[in-house]
Amino acid sequence: MSGSGNWADQAVCAQTDPEIFFPELGGSSARAKRICTTCPVREQCLDWAISLVPLPSEGIWGGMGYRALRKEAARRGRPVPCEACGAMFVLPDPAHPVVYCSARCRAGQRRAQQAAAERRRAATRARKEEAA
Ligand code: SF4
Ligand SMILES: [Zn+2]
Repeated sequence: MSGSGNWADQAVCAQTDPEIFFPELGGSSARAKRICTTCPVREQCLDWAISLVPLPSEGIWGGMGYRALRKEAARRGRPVPCEACGAMFVLPDPAHPVVYCSARCRAGQRRAQQAAAERRRAATRARKEEAA
């Protein structure tokens, strides 16, 4: 993908359909990841993507999507964004990547997930009652 330095000139994706590297939500990124394994500048691409703040949330970079980039950034001791509040934080133990910066964010996110699940259940109940 694009970036600073001459390594980008050797990027295999620059000679390929860029759409492959930005699959639709739920689409497969397998082809892009396969192409990245053949790229001579994969390491440079990965280093560059991981240096970005925030990390690229879309696309495949150095053979990795967002989740893998996040893990790799954490493994290298780089700050990653909290998935609830967006604050950057360094994981205390990169071997066990957590996605929230604090117990408060984790609890807030859990409550939001429970509320969303309850809304889905209520909508399903309403549809069933309508159909009955
Ligand atoms: S590693 Fe993949 S995304 Fe990065 S420059 Fe090479 S082909 Fe493009
Ligand atoms: Zn947070």
